[in-house]
Amino acid sequence: MSRKDAYKLIEKVHSYTNKEIDFSNYIKEYQEIEQEEFDIEYEFLGVSNGFLSELIYAITGYKVEVYGEVEELFTCPCCGYKTLTEPFNPKEGTGYDICPYCNWEDDGTTDIQSYCAINKGSMLDYRNKLRLNFNKYYTNKWLKN
Ligand SMILES: [Zn+2]
Repeated sequence: MSRKDAYKLIEKVHSYTNKEIDFSNYIKEYQEIEQEEFDIEYEFLGVSNGFLSELIYAITGYKVEVYGEVEELFTCPCCGYKTLTEPFNPKEGTGYDICPYCNWEDDGTTDIQSYCAINKGSMLDYRNKLRLNFNKYYTNKWLKN
């Protein structure tokens, strides 16, 4: 099944089931997303094919292989996963993406120990938070370099 077909299938199931199937472990902050606002292509930008297969298995009970090129994203400086839609570059006016995996806002910080006002903490704090609140459904969601 292609990524496009996978999106269509997930979207269909999602719209039928409303909240009968708990997507929250798979789709970040699902509860806060209104049904109409749900933009599946955006939600799964850069997500691995393996994760989409896993999600389809969870919601349909069918094992399918999802194939197709994964959208190329930029590496989050905090967690190291490719989750950011643009690199931090104040000259170009890009950056300040919030990582959907670790929630770090990319403000150009490179020192993992320094306190960052936007993030109300350091990268090290965020990494520790991840270690403590480990979501097993997210382990293969994002790609690494
Ligand atoms: Zn991150």
